[in-house]
Amino acid sequence: MDLSRFPRESLAHLPTPLEPLERLSAALGGPEIWIKRDDCTGLSTGGNKARKLEFLMGEARAQAADLVVTMGGVQSNHARQTAAAAAKLGMGCHLVLENSIGDTTDLYLKNGNLLLDFLHGASWECHPTGGDLHSAFEGAVRKISETGIAVYAIPSGGSNETGALGYASAAAELVGQCDARGLKVDHVVHATGSAGTQAGLVSGLKAIGRPVPVLGISVKAARQEQKKGVLSLAQRMIARISANSSIDADVIEVDDGYVGDGYGLPTPAAIEAIDLFARLEGILLDPVYTGKAAAGLIGLIRRGRFKRGQRIVFLHTGGVPALFAYRDRFDVVSR
Ligand SMILES: *Cc1c(COP(=O)(O)O)cnc(C)c1O
Repeated sequence: MDLSRFPRESLAHLPTPLEPLERLSAALGGPEIWIKRDDCTGLSTGGNKARKLEFLMGEARAQAADLVVTMGGVQSNHARQTAAAAAKLGMGCHLVLENSIGDTTDLYLKNGNLLLDFLHGASWECHPTGGDLHSAFEGAVRKISETGIAVYAIPSGGSNETGALGYASAAAELVGQCDARGLKVDHVVHATGSAGTQAGLVSGLKAIGRPVPVLGISVKAARQEQKKGVLSLAQRMIARISANSSIDADVIEVDDGYVGDGYGLPTPAAIEAIDLFARLEGILLDPVYTGKAAAGLIGLIRRGRFKRGQRIVFLHTGGVPALFAYRDRFDVVSR
């Protein structure tokens, strides 16, 4: 798999560490759990969007764009990392945001990721829940373009054939690290939302001929819908990065049992997972993505789906700033 023909900017600290979670593995009494620390990509506290943005911003620069526009929830990690990438490259950044959970507290609307968007100098517009955010996004791109500014539009989550290249590349990085340490991996588990991470991983693993199973824990969509989105992007990706190769529908594994009441609404299981990782491993998860993904991992271990003798890699996709916007979900008491 040769990705060198795609324009790329260096934005992430790579490779990210691959570490064993010894205390968590012992506490759960199941498989050996390892963690791939994509929360440590560096860019504005890190996260998975840094890998996608290396290729997206590479393309933006190749097209001589002055400003990038993207969209997402108020507490979007993708928006925050896009704002940081634009700042680093001396480009403008406009965010089309949606208050996805209808929380009108200052904590949610001014802290966490939004505070960081502000610090990185991005402009934004905030739309209420349930509107047509996509039309608002297209409207914003049109309006800014009409002023003569060269705009590069980035879809929600950076999940298209360009952004997902970041995770095709990550697949090769992970396999290289496992090979160097003699680790055979039975499954990779991570949070799946806008589908680029899973589609990139699956197509990258296929392209290098090392199809380790990847399970996406959905944070939003029902299983069939999520599978459809991941499969469609993975098929477009494999056509781009590997000749004579294809992705079958049955390699796209999605579990939607940990979404709870919806996107951005933490579940008791996610709060428990955040607690376990923080206390047993000194690792922070977030309430929107990685907390739910870890709840899925823990739930599947407790139900015997993943068991002793196996080795699982949990891909930590970042999201930590959102913790501060969800402070009121935790009963903070002195102990
Ligand atoms: C965006 C995001 C995800 C999901 O990745 P997708 O490529 O959108 O599926 C997972 N975790 C965090 C912290 C994210 O910000």
